[in-house]
Amino acid sequence: MSYTAEIISVGTELLLGNITNTDARDISQILSELGINVYYHTVVGDNPERLKSAIDVAKKRADILITTGGLGPTYDDLTKQTLAEAFGKKLLFDEKEAEEIRRYFSESLHKAQFTDNNYQQALLPEGCTVFHNCCGTAPGCAFTGEGGVRVIMLPGPPKECLSMFQSCAVPYLKALSDSGIYSHNFYIFGKGESAVEDQLRPLMLRLKNPTLAPYAKEGEVRLRLTAKAKSAEEAEALMQPVLKEVGDALGDIVYSIDVETLERTVLGLLKEKGLTLAAAESCTGGLVSKRLTDIPGASASFLGGAVTYSNEAKAALLGVNPEDIERCGAVSETIAVQMADGIRKVLGSDIGIGITGIAGPATDGVCDEVGTVYAALSAKDRTVCKLLHLGNDRSRIRTTAANHALDMVRRYLTGKEL
Ligand code: ATP
Repeated sequence: MSYTAEIISVGTELLLGNITNTDARDISQILSELGINVYYHTVVGDNPERLKSAIDVAKKRADILITTGGLGPTYDDLTKQTLAEAFGKKLLFDEKEAEEIRRYFSESLHKAQFTDNNYQQALLPEGCTVFHNCCGTAPGCAFTGEGGVRVIMLPGPPKECLSMFQSCAVPYLKALSDSGIYSHNFYIFGKGESAVEDQLRPLMLRLKNPTLAPYAKEGEVRLRLTAKAKSAEEAEALMQPVLKEVGDALGDIVYSIDVETLERTVLGLLKEKGLTLAAAESCTGGLVSKRLTDIPGASASFLGGAVTYSNEAKAALLGVNPEDIERCGAVSETIAVQMADGIRKVLGSDIGIGITGIAGPATDGVCDEVGTVYAALSAKDRTVCKLLHLGNDRSRIRTTAANHALDMVRRYLTGKEL
């Protein structure tokens, strides 16, 4: 059986636009991985009447109702009372949770701020499964309401909400079904979501278990293959033929299966081959270096980078020839190659990349258009430069230019066409 869920996020700040509803986003992602369909997200302010109406609507159209927020000790934290009322449940004092709350305060920096209203958090609906809050005080819980609707209550602060969801609600939800959801992800760079979907549509329509669905990421595409099965082995047996079929159809635009980013893929390949990388960046302003160094352990393969935004910096730090800048322009193949060669020599890496371009919004008066980017790769055995036209959105130009540079390294390391 496949379940449907609705998330009701409680909090006036959400409606005012003061905070983004990251709880619903993160929970939805995990629910979809569990094979649970989310048909509605509802946001309600801290108002018991409106929350009650939202619950009344949701319980008629969803099998699982998940609320976030409003579990704290203050007067506006009314989710538990309202839900208990809506499902005709009494709230009972849970001595064990009250003890946990006392302990949390005695051990935490908030010791001086403990007030009796904190005990309100230990009131829980009769017969519920208690979800202990390992990062805060308000416990969550789950219970079955009239008509078999499953109700799950989670705290609002994202850290508390997500850790409770992962550690308590996910096992609770998994136990509802005797089969599990298993998946593999294809990570794709070099083709848009609609083109990938167009190419694979016949296969997507044909597949029932596993299923295949595309998701767009900025400048990239993720294709998720999901199987429902009684065991991981059974799921794997269902997925292997499709993994091969999709891999063969898409070819080298698949940069990884199950390794989430280009930078992780590149670092993995560099490590595997015992090679090192350095980056010279102009229009990307250090984005490639930032993305690589976001990953712990990057220092094993990434030696460093230089943000050389001005012509003088390109000449002083990378040895780029000022006369060539004068002659060809800073945004040119000649300069991108000199940047890649320069950083490789200065830092003694096996591979150097150089990126120079116009991220806009204005042109530099020399180069023809915003979005023109040259990405070069320099290695002992070859030097390659790509001319890219990346549109006119500054942020997108920078992200996509960084993606191209990383993908060039990935292609070089795997012997694919550059
Ligand atoms: P607390 O004990 O902190 O009061 P709570 O469960 O009552 O927890 P809220 O009071 O509703 O939660 O929210 C506390 C804070 O958590 C909010 O100020 C906000 O910063 C964050 N928060 C709440 N709901 C969300 C949400 N849906 N997405 C992202 N952040 C949220």
